[in-house]
Amino acid sequence: MESISLVAGRDYPNTYRGFVEMFPDNAACAAYLIKLRWPQGFICPACKTSVIPWQASHVRLVCPLCRHFTYVSAGTIFDKTRTPLTTWFEAAWHVSTAKNGMSAKTLERTLGTKYRVAWTMLQRFRVAMVDVERHQLSGNIEVDETLIGGVKRGGKRGRGAVKSIVVIAIEIKEPVGFGRVRMRHIPDASSASLVPFVCDVTAPGSVVHTDGWGAYNGLSEYGFTRRVTVQSSSGDPAHVSMPGVHRVSSLLKRWILGTHQGSVVPEHLQSYLEEFTFRFNRRTSGSRGLVFRRLLERAVATGPITERDVTHGYKWG
Ligand SMILES: [Zn+2]
Repeated sequence: MESISLVAGRDYPNTYRGFVEMFPDNAACAAYLIKLRWPQGFICPACKTSVIPWQASHVRLVCPLCRHFTYVSAGTIFDKTRTPLTTWFEAAWHVSTAKNGMSAKTLERTLGTKYRVAWTMLQRFRVAMVDVERHQLSGNIEVDETLIGGVKRGGKRGRGAVKSIVVIAIEIKEPVGFGRVRMRHIPDASSASLVPFVCDVTAPGSVVHTDGWGAYNGLSEYGFTRRVTVQSSSGDPAHVSMPGVHRVSSLLKRWILGTHQGSVVPEHLQSYLEEFTFRFNRRTSGSRGLVFRRLLERAVATGPITERDVTHGYKWG
């Protein structure tokens, strides 16, 4: 078997042309995934030995010691896929490099796949976009809820249009600017929904800026300094007192209405929030190719996603 080598520091393309040249076929895609999955060299999952595997096919590796077969895609978001790796890679490229990403409908047209294939790839990538080891927000944080959806087909608001509550946390930089964001679709604006969210996404010792809503009252017990702006008494509209949350909330709504034509159902809302967060938190990344590589790194580090998850919504921890 040939050893797989990627040039250090430039192991990702930076343009679509570079992408096409780098990944002409499934073999090139598989070799890239092997490198991302075993950056320190292959380790046999059965006998745990560090060995140079035989390659029975592009995607099938064999341990020369115990003869255990491993699929490159096993245990990743590509598990048991019938979609060619070249299609997956092209989807990853568009999702990570297009300014606003792509809806399943646009991806279907761009790749020439079936809608279901495009939707499945997007849903699996959205789960991969969550970095489980990501660091908590710190410093000055704004936290507030916003309402998403409720626009019926044809754009008519009104009866029967159910809105979803999303809580947003964002780092505020001094003297100006915003840092990273986290979001969660919550069933209600109760203390039981809001306080655990803040505890999960925010480092203790941070200053948490909220409005006067009583459900946030418990925050000080968890080591946060709470700064309260009571809307009615400050006289400021929301975009003045909570500029970060206001900004993210309007970008999110514009993205859902524009890129996705507003067609986000509540059971999939968290997946969309994760995609928005992934892109927002990398908005200053100078390299589109690096974001693409990061997405694939996450894709091989994320476990299989079932058809049930794809259809009915991923069960977020
Ligand atoms: Zn082995």
